[in-house]
Amino acid sequence: MQLRIGNGYDIHRLVPGRPLILGGVRLEHPDGLGLDGHSDADVLVHALIDALLGALSLGDIGLHFPPDDPRWKGADSLKLLEQVIALVRERGWQVTNLDTVVVAERPKLKPHIAAMRSAIAIALGVEPEQVGIKATTNERLGPTGREEGIACHAVALLHKP
Ligand code: MG
Repeated sequence: MQLRIGNGYDIHRLVPGRPLILGGVRLEHPDGLGLDGHSDADVLVHALIDALLGALSLGDIGLHFPPDDPRWKGADSLKLLEQVIALVRERGWQVTNLDTVVVAERPKLKPHIAAMRSAIAIALGVEPEQVGIKATTNERLGPTGREEGIACHAVALLHKP
């Protein structure tokens, strides 16, 4: 059996007047902030996409879904994730497991993690047990700590039977 590993990182700005969507789940920020971006700005799914693409050296999310392409304006990032997992499967690879860390001061993510794992698992056609989502604050340090944005780190392990 062959194995491949990939990692991904993304950050998006927190701004007023935008929805806050993380892991395909719509959340409420206590100050009404959301993530800015060309698509729905789902930073968690974007980091996962880069981890999956990285595992097979297929480039990055910007290569596959250019931010200046009107097709991806307001795009549901779970749909982009579905396209990426199709590329992975076409090449005979399967997801072993995924793990992520979301860096956000607020809102509290714990009550929503089960729903996010489920949404991502459905998009990928895997079990929620294969999708790790962890949340941390940045101890009020740096851009994420000042709530200028939300960041996410991800790793993906793939296997080919
Ligand atoms: Mg992004």
